[in-house]
Amino acid sequence: MTTIIDIDGSQGEGGGQILRTALSLSMITGKPFRLVNIRAGRKKPGLMRQHLVCVQAAQRISNASVQGDELHSQQLEFFPQGIQAGQYDFNIGTAGSTMLVLQTLLPALLLQEKSSRISIQGGTHNPMAPTADFIQQCFLPTISRMGIDVEFEVEQAGFFPIGGGKVTATIQPWQNRQSLDLTKRGEVQAVNSYAGVLNLTDDIAKREMAVLQDQLSPSHSQQVYLKGISQGNTAYVAVHSEQHCQLFTALGEMRKSAERVAHDLAREVKNYLKSNAVVDEHLADQLLLPLALGNGGTFTAQCISEHTRTQAAMIQKFLDCEIKFATTIDGTDLITVIASH
Ligand code: ATP
Repeated sequence: MTTIIDIDGSQGEGGGQILRTALSLSMITGKPFRLVNIRAGRKKPGLMRQHLVCVQAAQRISNASVQGDELHSQQLEFFPQGIQAGQYDFNIGTAGSTMLVLQTLLPALLLQEKSSRISIQGGTHNPMAPTADFIQQCFLPTISRMGIDVEFEVEQAGFFPIGGGKVTATIQPWQNRQSLDLTKRGEVQAVNSYAGVLNLTDDIAKREMAVLQDQLSPSHSQQVYLKGISQGNTAYVAVHSEQHCQLFTALGEMRKSAERVAHDLAREVKNYLKSNAVVDEHLADQLLLPLALGNGGTFTAQCISEHTRTQAAMIQKFLDCEIKFATTIDGTDLITVIASH
């Protein structure tokens, strides 16, 4: 009988990523886990709606037996069986992040022999999570260079509190696992800025674009049109360099002016341009799992966050791989993943 992996959810950052990574890797390896102190590092610990949907979605695609899958539960036991590729529809039922549900299921589904098509309803533009734009224009293009083929579509955008967003992803079997080298970004070729509103006045996006124009002198500036039933605003900047396209995103907030939103976003972009790193802080933690499951690789990152370190520790609990943190001669953070096979 396989031994159960014990995980303390309060380790490192103590957030929901520990749960999502445990679910992905448990499904892939077939190893069951027992997770205690779920999201102990957060103000409202335990399973929130979005986390519970991740558990239920993982349960469905891997036919797992589960205990503790209730709202606010701080303990979970998960025993997966075989993963079934196929067509699945998931509905978070709130504005919880659809992107984090996708993040949980994608690694498991792309390792199957048949393709899958999933739709997820909920939020597409959430704070503290990758936005649908980030996934579409930054994460997926980067992992496509490792041989991962995902077609992704945003049918409706969804913002807090109503949500109502919907995305679909068609995930092909991962056939040719290529390693990734993102240690030099090369010349910056274009900086493009975008802003859009959903059921709010266009003026917000126009004011954001004006600040981005003034601060970054982008090569191209464009207002984007969003469909959906909720209300919200997003601005984002794509930095295209020879070797990589890095996206930076911002969301409009109550009591934060459009100018402030765009100003903070421009500052993030300037910090990136000043650094020698190829990958930003967030893409860094998101790349670790695909690299460990594929053929490994190495990249420079703007910073190694606590989130990234926790993610590395979690991956090494399930997989026999090595994740190393170092710095280059010019002081840039360097991450190397040596896959086990
Ligand atoms: P919680 O316990 O509330 O669920 P968490 O630990 O799961 O928190 P975070 O640490 O906030 O969540 O991060 C979730 C994921 O979202 C990470 O993979 C992180 O890289 C990503 N993320 C957060 N902010 C951004 C951003 N601005 N751009 C891209 N990705 C982001």
